[in-house]
Amino acid sequence: MFRVPVGEDWMALQKEPSFRESVDLMFNRAVAMMDLPPGLEEKIRVCNATYTVRFGVRLRGQIQTFTGYRAVHSEHMEPVKGGIRYAPSVNQDEVEALAALMTYKCALVETPFGGSKGGLCIDPRQYDEHELELITRRFAYELAKRDLIHPSQNVPAPDMGTGEREMAWMADQYARMNTTDINARACVTGKPLNAGGISGRVEATGRGVEYALQEFFRHPEDIAKAGLAGTLDGKRVIVQGLGNVGYHAAKFLQEDDGCLITGIIERDGALFNPEGLNVGAVHDWIVKHGGVTGFPDANHSAEGAAVLEEECDILIPAALEGVINTENAARIRAPLIIEAANGPVTAGADDILRKKGTVIIPDMYANAGGVTVSYFEWVKNLSHIRFGRMQRRQEEARHELIVRELERLSEHLGDAWSMTPDFKSKYLRGAGELELVRSGLDDTMRIAYQSMREVWHDREDVGDLRVAAYLVSIDRVAASYRAKGL
Ligand code: GLU
Repeated sequence: MFRVPVGEDWMALQKEPSFRESVDLMFNRAVAMMDLPPGLEEKIRVCNATYTVRFGVRLRGQIQTFTGYRAVHSEHMEPVKGGIRYAPSVNQDEVEALAALMTYKCALVETPFGGSKGGLCIDPRQYDEHELELITRRFAYELAKRDLIHPSQNVPAPDMGTGEREMAWMADQYARMNTTDINARACVTGKPLNAGGISGRVEATGRGVEYALQEFFRHPEDIAKAGLAGTLDGKRVIVQGLGNVGYHAAKFLQEDDGCLITGIIERDGALFNPEGLNVGAVHDWIVKHGGVTGFPDANHSAEGAAVLEEECDILIPAALEGVINTENAARIRAPLIIEAANGPVTAGADDILRKKGTVIIPDMYANAGGVTVSYFEWVKNLSHIRFGRMQRRQEEARHELIVRELERLSEHLGDAWSMTPDFKSKYLRGAGELELVRSGLDDTMRIAYQSMREVWHDREDVGDLRVAAYLVSIDRVAASYRAKGL
């Protein structure tokens, strides 16, 4: 397999770098700026192992063969973690690149996992629910048999084409094969709430994108680097892909932050409205009609990709890898790109955009909300208790004491000193699981951003957030290898 040597840039390839090559090139750019002991660079870069499985499932009167993968990139921490995607385009190079990104992502947001990723070559839309269950259970069986699904070894999660339903099947399959494992539920994350999931996991990646942007907009120096000013309020946003991640990111930015979602790009074209689109209404339309075509109150363009190049303040690629490439990068007008998808900007496009001054909030940070809340779910499963169960009422009782005391004092001071009913009800409510998950996610996104920006601002040779993110995470992975005596 071709490898990009350290020191080479994408031009040496004389073609558009693939996703795998892009990850290698970006990694190489960072390690060239580090002082790693000889050999450690290669140890960190290579994917430790990739398991390929071909299995047959009897469907519609005949045996159909499916190909699946689970790549383990780095076991400097265990279990290893990462989603399983269902798509016809899944291949070994792609899962390995995605597994590498998981290693760096987990290190950056300090979730105690190595990186892994899986995939099944399948178009899930071609199968009904029962068939998908048979296929998923069989795939899970093959992985669990080899500890590639295991609470302390390898913990999958949803990715493109999979969700709560598939995770519930996988968890159940593992539990059937390990009937006495008390921690069986921790074998996968992203499960439905009634099967050991956690509140807030479904929207976690989109919520993380929102928190990432909120943190970016807390730093006037960073906003200025993107040539922007002010707050998120009123910013024009174009979203590519209204799947789980894109939909939630766009919805939260519109509802909570006052952003105008001016463009939405989907498989069958794009919608554009400078006044702002109603994300919920577009989402409902897609669910009902299978695409954006025909949606009222917006201009529809059949040439969806062209809308990536429209003027806006923030561009959110939230679907496939490689959508911003050397062909269209020079025409991208957004001054700020946040990579909600994994690998949406190729290494070549990254180079072009950097030279133009575009600020890119990189994937390994921007979409880390998913794995962060997966971490909380895994901890919940291992501790066998819902977050907040012990302290919620106690917290409420203490707040009640203060409120009563304040009420007693305000009786003497007069009505002008009484509490607003809104304050009282908000203050009296103790934090449940969802509030705690949001608080943990927000904290994680703030701290990880600050660790990247510190490197971005402090080191003169670091000109962008992506290389800063790689520097922080490679440094952490290297430190854990050193601690192991490697
Ligand atoms: N598939 C998601 C990702 O790429 C989530 C992984 C996880 O939760 O383990 O980050």
